[in-house]
Amino acid sequence: MNTIRKLAFPAFALLMLALPALPVPDFWITQSNYIGLYALVSLGLVLLTGVAGLTSFGQAAFVGVGAYTAAFLAVKLSASPWLALLLGIGLAAGAAIVLGAITLRMSGHYLPLATIAWGLALNYTMANMEWLGKYDGILGIPTLKILGHDLGTGRGLHVLIWLFALLAALACVHLLDSRPGRAIRSLKNGATMAEAMGISTFRAKLTVFVIAAILAAISGWLFAFFQRTVSPSPFSIAKGIEYLFMVVLGGVGHVWGAFLGAGVVKLLEDQLQVLLPRLIGTSGSFETIVFGVILVVVLKYAPEGLWSFVARWIPRADRVRDWEGAPPLPARDKPAAGELLLQVQAVRKEFGGLVAVNDVSFELRAGEIVGLIGPNGAGKSTTFNLITGVLGLTSGQVRYRGEDITGMPSRAIARRGISRTFQHVKMIPEMTVLENVALGGYLRGSSGTVKAMLRLDRAEERGLFAEAERQLARIGMADRMHEMAGNLALGPQRLMEIARALCTDPALLLLDEPAAGLRHKEKQALGKVLRLLKGEGMSLLLVEHDMDFVMGLTDRIVVMEFGTRLMEGTPAEVQASPAVRAAYLGTEH
Ligand code: ADP
Ligand code: MG
Repeated sequence: MNTIRKLAFPAFALLMLALPALPVPDFWITQSNYIGLYALVSLGLVLLTGVAGLTSFGQAAFVGVGAYTAAFLAVKLSASPWLALLLGIGLAAGAAIVLGAITLRMSGHYLPLATIAWGLALNYTMANMEWLGKYDGILGIPTLKILGHDLGTGRGLHVLIWLFALLAALACVHLLDSRPGRAIRSLKNGATMAEAMGISTFRAKLTVFVIAAILAAISGWLFAFFQRTVSPSPFSIAKGIEYLFMVVLGGVGHVWGAFLGAGVVKLLEDQLQVLLPRLIGTSGSFETIVFGVILVVVLKYAPEGLWSFVARWIPRADRVRDWEGAPPLPARDKPAAGELLLQVQAVRKEFGGLVAVNDVSFELRAGEIVGLIGPNGAGKSTTFNLITGVLGLTSGQVRYRGEDITGMPSRAIARRGISRTFQHVKMIPEMTVLENVALGGYLRGSSGTVKAMLRLDRAEERGLFAEAERQLARIGMADRMHEMAGNLALGPQRLMEIARALCTDPALLLLDEPAAGLRHKEKQALGKVLRLLKGEGMSLLLVEHDMDFVMGLTDRIVVMEFGTRLMEGTPAEVQASPAVRAAYLGTEH
């Protein structure tokens, strides 16, 4: 079965590149040219929509940028097509950066709306500018020549189109399996966890948006030399929607879904354009209606697109364990035992009229385990969020190793060495346990998008995975590293989050109810791990409900009730306090 997997791509690539040399009729070569061009655009949408969860209706406009740049430079300026390619990519990337910078920081539907506006505006420009030929467009584009060899518009160009499409697909596959790729894959699950691992979600979003725009521009550039004329209509919003349709049909979450979708839509469109007018008796774009029906049926019975049917025959391969002996990742200087690490000074958080955290203060020294306990709703998790920058403070101050970190974004705080887990587990269910944990190592690597696409990041990747496995082994989960995180029970998911936090090489670890949902044996094992960490000099702040668990583990305990600090003391003092007992008895039972 693994051989099928390994040979699938080379076989497909070989077939598509050799197709022009085979006795295939010209008609099918032309169809295949279209499919390659559409697949390039769809690939960008797979990354953008399927992987990152962002929607763009304006991809056709980016195709237009590439096509018009090629046409204008070739016809009006007689410039080199390669210069036009670079310029087209530059213009599309520039437009994507401007659009993205304005909309990607905002949540909600700003990006889809902005891409619609962008698509309309560009189409209007093409159709109304004298120098772009208005509705007639630009005619008489020469064919492409490489080393004196004329590619023409059929078999020769087929090789170039598919070379671009296949290389782009490979680059996307490589990207998704890399440090920046995991950051992109984490976008769909909300920003909180990714940011807490040090990822700039804005940058990751902008990156995919730019990649999608560049792929579209390349497709447009090829399109211009394929059609030898450009006019506004192939770059309209309607076409932008058709591209989205292709990826949804083919499989929006899969690189190869882009190819399948492009192929099915192109071939179906041709058949329907011939068949439907004959059936109905008049001509018109009836295929749109059929596509609409198909979309509804596919979304109902195969929400992951047609590719999911193909994927069943291609087994998922476990990651080859190639990181044995990889050099360790860089580690940070750890504070000396007893150093004042964390100062929480009168922090306050109000949600409207509710004071969730009411001027709470406490300190933590390096090497200590401090417990934060209190009944449900006491404000413990909110306090965690204030310390780690997930929430903004109403007032008060947080200092870490003497530095004021109040109001810093959570990824800046993570960079300084504070890591955390979440009361409600936050992970990427469709990533393996190992990949989830490797996400924690994000700040300890540096490979960027281009390096990842070119597969020049493997040495660093081995280091990241070696570290991820080491942390998993530490909590006793190394044997489950290849499982999908979403398939784990709650207990192991919590442990995985701890491994991920440890993978950041923290100096201070904040655990929000790590023992909740764990069985007795798992709890004991967790206690052992935490004691081990303390023995290694790790500092821990621990929110816990299980009194016995904290009692045996912590040096000091801060008790909260209704947002205020009720008392602070040793476990024995807290246990003996009538006020604490009243707080727990009063609200818990
Ligand atoms: P704990 O972790 O101690 O159980 P929390 O910190 O989660 O308590 O919650 C403290 C109080 O703040 C609760 O009353 C909760 O309902 C409220 N709260 C927490 N988060 C929000 C929020 N985002 N918006 C409004 N109220 C919130
Ligand atoms: Mg809580």
